[in-house]
Parts: sequence; structure tokens; C-alpha cells
Amino acid sequence: DGDSYGVLPRPCRALVLVNPQSGAGRALEDFQAVVQPMLAEADIAATVFITERPHHAQEKVRDEDLSQWDTLVIMSGDGLLHEVVNGLMERPDWADAMQKPLCILPGGSGNALAASINYYAGNDHVAKKKLLTNCTFILCKGLHTQMDLVSLSTASGKRLFSFLGFGWGFISDVDIDSEKYRRLGNARFTLGTLQCLAKLRVYQGRLSYLPAVPEQGTPLAHRDPHAPITNGQAAHVLPPAGTEAPGALPADSLLVPLCQPVPAHWTVVPEEEFVTVYAIYQSHLGTNLLMAPAARLNDGCIHLFYLKAGISRLALLKIFLAMARGTHLDLNCPHLCYVRVQAFRLEPRAAAGIMTVDGEALACEPVQGQIHGRLCRVVSG
Ligand code: ADP
Ligand code: MG
Repeated sequence: DGDSYGVLPRPCRALVLVNPQSGAGRALEDFQAVVQPMLAEADIAATVFITERPHHAQEKVRDEDLSQWDTLVIMSGDGLLHEVVNGLMERPDWADAMQKPLCILPGGSGNALAASINYYAGNDHVAKKKLLTNCTFILCKGLHTQMDLVSLSTASGKRLFSFLGFGWGFISDVDIDSEKYRRLGNARFTLGTLQCLAKLRVYQGRLSYLPAVPEQGTPLAHRDPHAPITNGQAAHVLPPAGTEAPGALPADSLLVPLCQPVPAHWTVVPEEEFVTVYAIYQSHLGTNLLMAPAARLNDGCIHLFYLKAGISRLALLKIFLAMARGTHLDLNCPHLCYVRVQAFRLEPRAAAGIMTVDGEALACEPVQGQIHGRLCRVVSG
């Protein structure tokens, strides 16, 4: 419904941003050996830009004349695409800039979006060079479509745009603690999970959310009686880009300032002790972690998972093992909760622990976010 597909022109001019330090440090070699020959066959001319430091890619796309390029290709982990998305949103012409198709090629240790796009395309689950080959093939076909982003605001006044997920507690600790094992590639997450299990702790805070609008055809009896229809509609009539002050960022119409309580029709989770909270908007949390099997690029919702305190280490380990196949919800673990939402707020009680956005660390403070449907475009099968 309303999907707007496009196809890259031929010949195609691609700016390829490569992080030579991502993953096991082989992104540039892999690009030259695996990707470049396939692109040449497909009449895609690649201009390589090698990042020299954090934020280099963000500055590059913020300042770049984008009319030279038909697509921006990111050969790295999810972290570099996060920089690119936020660099484009810093431009006064962000609304036009976000129409430029982005393409992710897995070169990092955390390649969640690449794994998700491979899954949406209906391909078998693969990793490493096979995943890179599949994603390069998708680029060669050149189809692109819209992707939702989530706008996140923090108590200290930061505004970030996120394409993958926001996390707190156990999962974020694994993500950041395991950075030192980046050379292991994706195995860093397995090792990190086992280490964090050993020192399992509880995180205190308040979690609130605005449930997603039920899909058409959902019987009324199954609807959340607290979800007002008016507000649900508001989510679909966000001010279109350009109707606000020129260059103004898209308004978060579902959110009230963090200093005020959440609106009365939001749900406040009664428990205030968690092992982890993870708001994901793609299917995969990592190459081997199918966290939200129902998620799609522009499904208009945030898939909110949280684990309540009191779960045993064994039950937690079983959940992570089941996530390899996306069967963790079938375990019916009473501590694991899953709800589709349009917006959420997390207010940690102490500034302890780490938060992550698209796998990148964020200082721990109150945060809220809402979905912005179809805000950018990605190359996908
Ligand atoms: P990985 O999946 O291996 O973590 P990412 O794409 O997430 O790969 O990149 C990790 C981090 O590396 C990002 O925060 C990015 O800003 C940073 N970065 C980009 N280029 C460089 C560079 N040349 N040297 C060091 N860090 C870099
Ligand atoms: Mg990363």
C-alpha cells in the first residue's frame, strides 16, 4: 500500500563510504575483492571515500553536493550508516537529501540492517561474505524503497534519528562491552552475552509507550480500549516535509516535553525494574539475532521488547539462543514482553548503565522517541 519503489539509473554514480576499521578491519579489502567487480558488471561507478575517524562520514554527507551521486553506499557496520543518516538530517535541505537512496553493505561486526534487508528480500539466512554478496546483488538490481526512522530526544536536548533500534540495560551492555572483541566479527556478541550473563544486574526506571494503531481489519474487541482513534490518526498525518519553517526538522507530534508526564492515553509499565529494554524497528538486532520477525522497512511501528527483573540466567540464555531463529516469543517467558508502539519514553532512575542508538553508545538519561514513517530511502530487494 502506497509503497513508492524506485530504481537506480544506469550508468549509476555511487559514493561509497568505507570504514577501514569496522568489523575485523577488512572492509576495504572486501570491497575491492567482492563488491567492485560486481558493481562494474552492473554499470555502477563507485567513488570510494575512506573514513579516517569517527564523524568523518557524518561531516562528509552533511557538506557534500549530493547532485553528483545517485546513491550513497555505506560499507561498514550499522554505526557508519547512523552517522550518514544524522549527517543528512543536519542539512538545511534534509527533506530532499533524505530522498537519496542509501545502501548498506555489511563490512562491520554489527550488520543488523544488512541482515534485515537480506531477510526482507526472502533470501536464506547467511552471514559474512555470503551476506555481503547478497547485499551487493541487491545493489546491482538497484530497487529502492522507503524506510521509517525514529526521532529520539534526550533530556539534555540531543535529537537523533535512528533506523535500527534504541536499547538500555543488558543488550546495550553487550553491544558496548564487546567492542573490544570487534576483531572477532559477529562472534563478539556471543562472547559479550556470556560475559554479561555472569554479572547480570537490574536497571531501574520507568517505561511508557503509545501503542501502535491496530491494523485495518483488526476486530474492535481486540483493540486497546485506551488507544484513542484520534491520536492514532494523527500519526498518519504528520506534517509533510516542507510545510514547516524551511529546514526545520520534522515535528514529533506524538510527544510532550520530557519534563511533563506522558499523555494520559499512554501506557505506563507498572514494573520499574528491568534487565533490558530494546525498541527495534528492523527484524534483526545482529546477523544472528532475529528479534522482531514481523518488522518491515516501513511498517510504521516500533517493536518494543522489555525483560522484567527476576528472570533467571538460564531463561535469559534460552531467549538469546532462541533469537537466532526468531522463536524467543514461542518460549512464553513471563518476563519477556513485546508490544508494537508508535512512541515510547524511558526514564532511568539513575544515570547508570549504557544506552545505545543503532549500536552506538549514548549517555544514560531520560529519552523518548516516535516513529516517522517513510522518512528516508534504502536500496532493498
Ligand atoms: P562495527 O560494526 O564494526 O562497529 P561501525 O560501522 O559501527 O562498525 O563503526 C564503528 C565506529 O567506527 C563508528 O562509531 C564510526 O564513527 C567509527 N569510525 C569510522 N571511521 C573510523 C576510522 N577510520 N577509525 C576509527 N573509527 C572510525
Ligand atoms: Mg557498530
